[in-house]
Amino acid sequence: MLRMHCEMLHSMGYPVVVQVGSGVAALELLQRAPEAHDVIVCDLNMPGMDGIEFLQIVNKSKYCGKVILLSGEGLRILHTVQKLLEGGRLIVLGALQKPPQRAALRALLERWQPQAPSAPVKPALSFSPQELRAATRHRQWVLHYQPKVEVRTGELAGMEALIRWQHPVYGLIYPDAFIGAAEDCGAIDEVTQWVLFEALAQLVRWREQGLSIQMAVNVSMENLRAPDFATRVVALARASGASPQNVTLEVTESRLMSTSSAPLESLVRLRLHRFGLSIDDFGTGHSSLAQLRDVPFTELKVDRGFVQGARHNQIIRPILEGSLGIAKRLGMTLVAEGVETEDDWHLLREIDCDLAQGYFIGRPMPVNQIGQWIESWRARRPGLIGPSR
Ligand code: C2E
Ligand code: MG
Ligand code: MG
Repeated sequence: MLRMHCEMLHSMGYPVVVQVGSGVAALELLQRAPEAHDVIVCDLNMPGMDGIEFLQIVNKSKYCGKVILLSGEGLRILHTVQKLLEGGRLIVLGALQKPPQRAALRALLERWQPQAPSAPVKPALSFSPQELRAATRHRQWVLHYQPKVEVRTGELAGMEALIRWQHPVYGLIYPDAFIGAAEDCGAIDEVTQWVLFEALAQLVRWREQGLSIQMAVNVSMENLRAPDFATRVVALARASGASPQNVTLEVTESRLMSTSSAPLESLVRLRLHRFGLSIDDFGTGHSSLAQLRDVPFTELKVDRGFVQGARHNQIIRPILEGSLGIAKRLGMTLVAEGVETEDDWHLLREIDCDLAQGYFIGRPMPVNQIGQWIESWRARRPGLIGPSR
C-alpha cells in the first residue's frame, strides 16, 4: 500500500516522496527536519502507535505542513478523525479510503497551496448593553435580504431579513458578533421589535409593487420568553397591514429551552394567528427532533452542514434525505440553507426539496439591490430548472 502511494505520487510529478513504516519512524523524521515536509499521507492503522496518537503528537510539534488521512476503516471513522483535528494547528486536506485511488489523491493535493496567504485576522469585538441600546437609538441597524427560491420552478418564494449593524467606527458588523450579547443583556427585545417593524413594512411595500412573496424574520429564544411577545407581534402585523400568513418566524435554539413554558406558549399563540414557524439550523445545537415533536413548526430549515457537498457525501446525504422525509410526513416545508454550488442545487432537485437558499442563488443584500438580483436570477433560472446534470 505504501509503495503504491509512493509510485502514484512520483508519477504525478512530486519528486521527493519519503516512506516510513511506523509512527515512531515518522516522528523521528519530522523532529529532525520539521520544515522539510509539505504533506503527510497518514494511514490511521499503523504498527505500534495508532494514527490518532501520531497525529496528536504532530499537532503539538513544529511541523507546519498539511495532512491527508488514509484508512480502510470506512468513511465515518475518517470523518470523525477529520473533525477531531479541525480545531488544532494541523490542516487536513481530506481523507482517502483504501485501496488508493489516483484521482482522489490528486484532487486532495490540488487543495494544497504551499504559499496561500492567510486571511487577515479581524479582532473579536464585544459590546456593552449601553452600546447596543445606543445603536437602537441612533438607528444604526440595517436589514439585508436573502432570497429563498422554489427548487422545482426556480420561482422566488420569499426573502429572509438578516440584521447588520452599521457601526460608526467598525463599519458593517455581522449578527454573530452582537446577537449573543443582545440576548444576554435583554437588548434583543428592542432589536427584534425594530427588525419586525422594518421587515413587515418592506413586505407591504413589495406587495404594493406587485411582488407577492413571503418574509422571514429571525427571532431568538430570549424573545419568546417575554410573556407578551406574541401579543406584540400580532399588533405589529396588524398595524403594518401585513398578513401573518406571509410571515415566517425562524427560531434558532442556541440555548436550551428553559423549563418555563413561556416560549412554547408564544410559539403556539403565533401559530394560532397564522404566522409560519421555522426551525432554523435544524440538526445542530438544540435544534432537534424533540423540538420538532413539541412545537407546531411549519418549516424545517436544515443546517448548511447537511447541505453543502451532500451530493457526493455518503454521510450527510442520507441525513438530508431523511430530514426531507420527516418534513414531508409532518406536512412541513423543507428549506435547504447554505446552497453554494451547482452540485448542491442539483441534488436538491433530485431529491425534490421544497425551497433553497444560499450564496449560489443570492447573497444577503441591501434592499436597493433586489431589483438587479431579480433580473439576473430571471436570466439564470431557465438553465437551472432543466434536467439535472
Ligand atoms: P441564520 O438565520 O441561519 O442565517 C443564515 C446565515 O448564513 C446568514 O448569516 C447568511 O448570510 C449566511 N449564509 C447564507 N447563505 C450562505 C451560504 O451559501 N454559505 C454560507 N457559508 N453562509 C450563508 P448572517 O447574516 O451573518 O446571520 C447569522 C445568524 O445571525 C443568522 O443565522 C441568525 O441566526 C442570526 N440573525 C440574523 N439576523 C437576526 C435578527 O434579526 N434577529 C436575530 N435574533 N438573529 C438574527
Ligand atoms: Mg434564519
Ligand atoms: Mg440557519
